[in-house]
Amino acid sequence: MKTVLIIEDERNLSNIIKKHLRQEGYNVLQEFDGQKGLLTVKQQNPALIILDIMLPVMDGLEVCKQIRTESTVPILMLTAKTEEIDRIIGLELGADDYLTKPFSIRELLARIRAIFRRIEMVKKQSQLAQTEIIEIQDLYIHTADRVVKVSGRTVSLTMMEFDLLFLLASHPGRVFNRDYLLEHVWGYKCTSYERSVDNCILNLRKKLGKDSKAAANILTVWGMGYKFKGIN
Ligand code: CA
Repeated sequence: MKTVLIIEDERNLSNIIKKHLRQEGYNVLQEFDGQKGLLTVKQQNPALIILDIMLPVMDGLEVCKQIRTESTVPILMLTAKTEEIDRIIGLELGADDYLTKPFSIRELLARIRAIFRRIEMVKKQSQLAQTEIIEIQDLYIHTADRVVKVSGRTVSLTMMEFDLLFLLASHPGRVFNRDYLLEHVWGYKCTSYERSVDNCILNLRKKLGKDSKAAANILTVWGMGYKFKGIN
């Protein structure tokens, strides 16, 4: 049974989420402030974390940052303010997905399912496929270990950033539109989240290093989407 940790100080909301997650067969833990949440992450090693931003003691952005220093556990952030979205996806915090309040429980459950589906998919792919190594100029990708290096420097990526980079780099020259990327990397069809793709690309380029060939090879195709530059 997968354990989901809810870090959310609005008890009513937390309890509603808990009830529905239990119905879906998840084991559910609850914490109501950031610091205790962080502690529970370390002690209980949950399979997924639902993390609110506005939290007492330590806010969700800080909690997310700290979790990411040692874990790649999927994090779904909750935010009450649309202006926080840019901070969630722009600040290299490494959240995997986010929802703005108010959201429907159905939407939340769909997102969680999508995240777990992606993890399963990745697991199966890495079990089936022989280890694949992609080397294009200064970029090195080891698929089984999910390791990315640029000029020998290891780059720490979130799940989605890795999958996005792998998809692009394994098909140099092919243009992927945002819809396709949302469906195949994020796991859901919802065009209103196209901005997530753009922000993920932005973070990827930043993490790969502004002066790297790897970053320069991720090209924006205006009006269409993105591609990894074909290398002749
Ligand atoms: Ca809150």
